[in-house]
Amino acid sequence: AVALMALSGCSTRSDTSSGSTAAAAGFAADSLIGVALPSKTSENWVLAGGLFEDGLKSAGFTGDVQYAGASTTVKDQQDQISAMVTKGAKVIIIGAADGGQLSTQVKAAHDAGAIVIAYDRLILNTADVDYYVAYDNFKVGALQGQALIDGLKAKKASGPYNIELFSGSSDDANSAVFFKGAMSVLQPKIDDGTLVVGSGQVDIKQTATAAWKAENAQSRMDSLLTSTYGTKTIDGVLSPNDTLARAIITSVKSSGKPIPVVTGQDSEAESVKSIMAGEQYSTINKDTRVLVTQAITMAQKLQKGETPEVNDTKSYDNGKKVVPAFLLPPVIVTKANAAEAYANDPKLAPLTK
Ligand code: BGC
Repeated sequence: AVALMALSGCSTRSDTSSGSTAAAAGFAADSLIGVALPSKTSENWVLAGGLFEDGLKSAGFTGDVQYAGASTTVKDQQDQISAMVTKGAKVIIIGAADGGQLSTQVKAAHDAGAIVIAYDRLILNTADVDYYVAYDNFKVGALQGQALIDGLKAKKASGPYNIELFSGSSDDANSAVFFKGAMSVLQPKIDDGTLVVGSGQVDIKQTATAAWKAENAQSRMDSLLTSTYGTKTIDGVLSPNDTLARAIITSVKSSGKPIPVVTGQDSEAESVKSIMAGEQYSTINKDTRVLVTQAITMAQKLQKGETPEVNDTKSYDNGKKVVPAFLLPPVIVTKANAAEAYANDPKLAPLTK
């Protein structure tokens, strides 16, 4: 089938998965490239918009960068993608607001000959997604799990340690992968009694944080403190990102209890400050500049009619196909290595001084 496609000139990709047919033998250098981002639930999304605007422009493309609104997130994004298709975008880069609700729009994109790149979050249950570009999400979770254990041991030489688990929004495909990565490290320690989940809430449904909203994590933490930690101390909390980590810390502070070891992700400025002040324990550095650059590099390859580079062709089964992925390596950051980790980040480096 690949040879036939190549002969007929309708595919330049080496991707042999079934279902996707969109491909082009290059396109005009100033073509429209659409970027559909979710609502601004964390700083990485805020940064990505501006970086895409600038990066697409300097690559010579015509960029169309859109964010889903805060309330009608899914519908907004569906409409924005449809509009990009109508305007003739050649590549549509999507940070999904809800990865399971875009199959109609990405099919329309493919039907119109556009290439679809899932950015940071996988798009689920459709064959109409060509590439995935993200930080290695499983690794993010595993690093968070390990940081939690390291942080606990640094405070108190041996367990058992009382912990609670938080996960992200269930409409974001990353949430389950982060959680699986973390549990790959934590579960054996729960099984051998080193870690005790005081509430017993270990299922992703129980630990989820709807819409990645700080107030949802804060109120769940408030409830846990009341229901489970009246007299017990809480030693650690697995938090999937920085926004939620700070909400969890706020909740603990207002209960008057000592701050536990709390993990995070995204290297948000407020969390880097918190880490330097000895409050939040860890975060993850997923440099947004590098991820945006990688997505634009893929668009540039496609523009020339070349195949974008991928480095993972097995991890991201979206229910309909295994999406070829380019995965970047995440870096764990604690107070100990913050200065080194952010040395080349003009915004974060000063915070570590
Ligand atoms: C991103 C995280 C971010 C979260 C909430 C996830 O899909 O990978 O970096 O913290 O969304 O915005």
